[in-house]
Amino acid sequence: MTDSKRVIIVGGGHNGLVCATYLAKGGKEVIVLEAANEMGGAAVTREFSPGFKVSACAHLLNLLDPTIETELALKSHGLRLAKTNLKTIALAEDGNHLQIDGNRVSGGGVSDSDTTALVKYRRRMDRFAKLLGRLYSRKPPRIGVSNPSDLFGAAKLALDMRLLGREDMREFLRIAGINIYDILEEYFDSPLLKGALSFDGVLGTHLGPRSNNSVFTTLHRMSGRIGGKQGALAYPAGGMGAVTAALAAAAASKGVTLRTASPVARILVDGDRVTGVELEGGEQISADTVVSNADPRTTFFKLIGARNLDAGFVRKIQHIRMRGNAAKLHLALKTLPTFTGVEPDQLGERLVIAPDSAYVERAFDHAKYGEYSSSPALEITIPSIHDASLAPDGQHVLSAIVQYAPYELKGGWEAGREAFTNVVLDQLSRYAPDIRQQITHTELLTPADIEREFRITGGHWHHGELALDQALMMRPVPGAAQYATPLSGLFLCGAGCHPGGGVMGHAGRNAATAVLSGGSR
Ligand SMILES: Cc1cc2nc3c(=O)[nH]c(=O)nc-3n(C[C@H](O)[C@H](O)[C@H](O)COP(=O)(O)OP(=O)(O)OC[C@H]3O[C@@H](n4cnc5c(N)ncnc54)[C@H](O)[C@@H]3O)c2cc1C
Repeated sequence: MTDSKRVIIVGGGHNGLVCATYLAKGGKEVIVLEAANEMGGAAVTREFSPGFKVSACAHLLNLLDPTIETELALKSHGLRLAKTNLKTIALAEDGNHLQIDGNRVSGGGVSDSDTTALVKYRRRMDRFAKLLGRLYSRKPPRIGVSNPSDLFGAAKLALDMRLLGREDMREFLRIAGINIYDILEEYFDSPLLKGALSFDGVLGTHLGPRSNNSVFTTLHRMSGRIGGKQGALAYPAGGMGAVTAALAAAAASKGVTLRTASPVARILVDGDRVTGVELEGGEQISADTVVSNADPRTTFFKLIGARNLDAGFVRKIQHIRMRGNAAKLHLALKTLPTFTGVEPDQLGERLVIAPDSAYVERAFDHAKYGEYSSSPALEITIPSIHDASLAPDGQHVLSAIVQYAPYELKGGWEAGREAFTNVVLDQLSRYAPDIRQQITHTELLTPADIEREFRITGGHWHHGELALDQALMMRPVPGAAQYATPLSGLFLCGAGCHPGGGVMGHAGRNAATAVLSGGSR
């Protein structure tokens, strides 16, 4: 096999696997080198206590591109959903919870005007989210370039906007860069409803509901289509690892070589082009094309080295904001906990502790100063209710995303971990008074743990903050935003590229297209 036909992919996260399969379909000889002992990156299922399994980072499937699912025949490679169309239960401390099911809301003393407003809000936001979804499945155009493909991309972007119609286009331009807090104030009265909807906009980010860009991140979260429904949420059977297992099976079926426990120490460079990689054990593999699924800072600083890059480019990479703020709590439970006021058939839905948007904002305030939230916001799931494979008979796992837990905690996470775990458990106990009695094992993954275990700088959900100044043709930075990079033969394919994080696969698919078409930047 010639070096020109061979492509090495550094990292077997879901985007690396997607990219590998499309490249193999395009006639390349592909090798995926994954540092961990299994493929999947931040989308894996693992045992955290004997007999108890959980999706380690990502736990809800809402963004996986249906085109990729079909083109890679993921169903025939084992992908199955244990539950689709999860409702959101916005928990109230007094048990008078509110339930959101798409554009329908009930309970929580919600008014008729809020019920009507939610239909209007969803109709508009769904339109905008679909627009983003269309942008996500292709590389962003370069600005100020007269190449036909970039001109076509820019024209398509303008046309998609124009097709919104005058009123929606104006509204899109008005709100895309601002904060979700203000928008929710325009639509709704119910604090519980505003709390839950505002939390959607800040999950995984270094933003509060009052931060600019939180409308954009809300739309990002709504841009997917699962089970044929816009903005829906699902549990994959077997946890998120089952999604990447199906992707790995699809890759293997196309002849991709998948190597785990193969950490890449450096990407080899000769002048301004890459020539292959060297593994930590010293083995060298040559190739004219290397695609990195690692985040941009890891790729350029750890694997390439700043000395091989232009100083201006190095500065841009240094300035990417990537401060993780989401922690992950896993509980092994003897039996199901009792959440006050939650009906047994609601317990398997998505439970949210974000009683109003000011609460979420106050939780974020701490993170600005390197402190964890004294009253955190939580996205709680009990996937074992729908998927018995995750826990021993009659027992359960709880998986929760906890915000805010700043990567750089004052005093460090070694000192802060136990105290924060207790803060989170105290918070849970306010809503589920018997929960502590049910716990047999607790695991809290802080952003520092996520960085160490999953090799993501800052433990950041998106491999770099998702914000308009770090989106589209600016993601991760100008000069590397079309998947090609300043080094000839080096491409990026991870969440740090357009369109960002979440288990979606677009970055992997778009990167493969860029490689196969010769990649310009
Ligand atoms: C706490 C948390 C909760 C989340 N929850 C959700 C959710 O519910 N739903 C959702 O859709 N998304 C969620 N996300 C986001 C989602 O998990 C990520 O955006 C997504 O998994 C990124 O995929 P990726 O393939 O781009 O990168 P990764 O999954 O990070 O994969 C990159 C891979 O590269 C490997 N690698 C890095 N360096 C090297 C090297 N030198 N040599 C070899 N291999 C290397 C890593 O080991 C890793 O396997 C969450 C993220 C976090 C942190």
